[in-house]
Amino acid sequence: MSKQTRIMEPIGVLLTSPTNSYLEQELDKRFNLFRLWNVPNKLEFLKQNSGSIRAVAVNPNVPTDREFIESLPALEIVSSFSVGLDKIDLEYCKEKGIRVTNTPDVLTDDVADLAIGLILTTLRRICECDRYVKAGLWKKGDFRLTTKFSGKKVGIIGLGRIGTAIAKRAESFNCPISYYSRSEKPGSNYKYFPSVLELASDCQILVVACPLTEETRHIINREVLNALGPSGYLINIGRGPHVDERELVSALVEGRIAGAGLDVFENEPHVPEELFGPDNVVLLPHVGSGTVETRHAMADLVIGNIEAHFNKKPLLTPVV
Ligand code: NAP
Repeated sequence: MSKQTRIMEPIGVLLTSPTNSYLEQELDKRFNLFRLWNVPNKLEFLKQNSGSIRAVAVNPNVPTDREFIESLPALEIVSSFSVGLDKIDLEYCKEKGIRVTNTPDVLTDDVADLAIGLILTTLRRICECDRYVKAGLWKKGDFRLTTKFSGKKVGIIGLGRIGTAIAKRAESFNCPISYYSRSEKPGSNYKYFPSVLELASDCQILVVACPLTEETRHIINREVLNALGPSGYLINIGRGPHVDERELVSALVEGRIAGAGLDVFENEPHVPEELFGPDNVVLLPHVGSGTVETRHAMADLVIGNIEAHFNKKPLLTPVV
């Protein structure tokens, strides 16, 4: 981002967690920045400063719920450092006339790349191969055979920006693509299924790429896992609560699915220890958009949206 002129009045912006050092530094240059994680007594801090906080920059780990919004009476804009909006009470923001923005598109490639990486890592057991060589086991014998990715049927839940980018990448591995979403996408050549269950029954790799809503919470349940079957793989780059983790653990342990690659979990950063054991699981610490380039672009959008709002210009990526 080019050096912007500091907006004349010192506008109070609250950053809720230590999201990204570039974001923090750039917000600090432009605004009167409050760092919520630094304060010993958050309630007391909010009481004292709420009148001057007109914007919040939030990260998806911190809920922007009704209680939090109510504690900030001067709040005009919530600028989210994520595309997912599941931690923000959008209805309440709408009701209060508070604008909400997110960071779509700039992270799509990274998340789609990671989804393909997770598929390859899970099916070809790349992490295990690495550990095998480093442990000196290769000298004792070759690594066992793994599972081919190219040509496998890939089913995607949520054919939006990220889902489509995953589909395009998987196509280049000669994978037939099908999908489920609430509506059939006009102009898409991929096969549409009107239910997750039908999609899971028909594919070999099921990828979750939809937003987390009340409708999609535990969209991956026992029935869906059974439909995916003992040769099927689950890949989740959406949100943790899309998957009923208890059911996933038992499906993996009982061999009712072949494996899973997960970037997100129900209660991050806590991951059920039962998932540490099975060798057919790959676990990542929610790093879908976690590259320097993409986080930088996300930070630029967070700042750009706040600046646009206070300069009375159209928001760059408005949600509400
Ligand atoms: P998007 O462009 O809005 O796409 C969302 C897709 O999901 C649409 O095709 C939508 O189609 C579908 N969908 C919405 N509600 C659904 C439902 N109830 N059942 C089934 N499908 C539904 O969003 P995106 O930019 O691709 O991002 C998708 C999600 O990825 C985000 O919300 C976020 O949770 C996750 N994400 C994860 C990471 C990571 O680090 N792992 C990073 C970025 C994003 P219909 O409207 O037709 O249903």
